[in-house]
Amino acid sequence: MKTTTQTYDLIVIGGGPSGMMAAGRAAELGARVLLLEKNKHLGEKLKITGGGRCNITNAEFNVRTFLENFPQSKEFLFSPFSKFSAKDTFVFFEEKGLPLVVEARKRAFPASQKAFDVFLTMEKYIRAHRVKVEKNARVSSLKKKDGKIVSVKLSDGKEYSARYFALATGGTAAPETGSTGDGFKILSKLGHIIAKPNPNIVPLKTSAKWVHDLSGTTLSFMTVRFKQNGKTKIKKTGKILFTHFGVSGPLILNSSYEVRKLLKEGPVEASIDLFPDTEENDLDRRVQNLFDKNKNKKLKNMFSELLPKALAETIVGLPELELSQRTINSITREERKKLVKKMKDLTFPITGTLGFDKAIIADGGVILEEVDLKNMTSKLYPNLYLLGDTLSINRPSGGFSLQMCWTTGFVAGTDAGEKVTALLRG
Ligand SMILES: Cc1cc2nc3c(=O)[nH]c(=O)nc-3n(C[C@H](O)[C@H](O)[C@H](O)COP(=O)(O)OP(=O)(O)OC[C@H]3O[C@@H](n4cnc5c(N)ncnc54)[C@H](O)[C@@H]3O)c2cc1C
Repeated sequence: MKTTTQTYDLIVIGGGPSGMMAAGRAAELGARVLLLEKNKHLGEKLKITGGGRCNITNAEFNVRTFLENFPQSKEFLFSPFSKFSAKDTFVFFEEKGLPLVVEARKRAFPASQKAFDVFLTMEKYIRAHRVKVEKNARVSSLKKKDGKIVSVKLSDGKEYSARYFALATGGTAAPETGSTGDGFKILSKLGHIIAKPNPNIVPLKTSAKWVHDLSGTTLSFMTVRFKQNGKTKIKKTGKILFTHFGVSGPLILNSSYEVRKLLKEGPVEASIDLFPDTEENDLDRRVQNLFDKNKNKKLKNMFSELLPKALAETIVGLPELELSQRTINSITREERKKLVKKMKDLTFPITGTLGFDKAIIADGGVILEEVDLKNMTSKLYPNLYLLGDTLSINRPSGGFSLQMCWTTGFVAGTDAGEKVTALLRG
């Protein structure tokens, strides 16, 4: 079947958070909206966000401070974020019956702790404003004429035309949810410059077997230094999780962008300071006191008074220390000092990042120089909106990705809705 009549004011391609927001908002303002989604269901990625709890935004209500988390693009983003900020996200969801709560590092979650409730709220929003949704509808191309987009073509041959189009097909992270980079191919064909996507907010790999053996161990408030040629290049404090391939946890995920860049220049080493608030001399005194009280014990049996058991056993067993079978009274001053040093500088090589399947975001996409950020339209095609993860915007974890989707979706939906109503008024 082929449809070429202009039935819709706005066609949104992709039913993730940014697409649902744009579709709902434009329809709320009176536009006839069609939402095309290639999956059987909308919002598959949204439903798994935040480990199923959905870190929906970050409760930093000062726009400038909020945008400090977007180091490469903060200047571009001031305009859209001043139109729809984290504060507006709170109002939007709370008005729709979804109260939010704020946790550590200002991360906001639905009070119900269910990502599915965020999805249901968005689904109710688009339904309430009569957005027409077509699922199992994979868009394969956009047709252009005279510098404008005129229609979308689906892989089954159907074609729909509209006044405005919004591309919200996501990036390439977690492709099993539908974000397979289709939008990048479509935009590339239209002449847009697409920054190459790389896995971002992603765990790091190491070849050090002792790290793999600690899989499941979590350390809170550690300092990690990423070093190159002996020099500290990145330093962060936070939570680390050891895994069977390397390291993960918020500190690691939020370092992955810079670490990947460093890896391009040469080998990178991670160094964990297990006692970031204690000077080496003070730590040595603490260890000495502990040794004095446990002279006849085996080191590996009493060291868990200082560190989680698995980590304590790993450290004393490291080949460069080889202290695991030793009793305390046989340990020399030099050996103790070496042990203390190790706790302040526990190093292992970083050999790479995991892939897109384990990444929270991919940092490529349409370069912002080609987007009019006042209303989220393409500078090449003024009736094409570009949303969410289709844009090349690096940011950390903490609710910043979804806020970027709510913002870009709302700004685009408002612009399209207002333009359509202005046309109707004549
Ligand atoms: C495991 C995980 C956890 C996360 N947790 C958080 C979190 O807690 N907080 C946070 O801020 N961010 C989180 N993120 C990131 C966040 O989910 C994304 O930034 C966000 O979903 C991007 O939304 P989007 O609308 O741009 O695209 P997506 O959510 O990727 O949606 C794109 C949609 O477009 C559809 N589509 C693709 N191609 C086509 C096509 N050709 N035709 C039709 N439809 C198409 C897809 O099927 C999909 O439904 C997480 C990501 C992952 C992977």
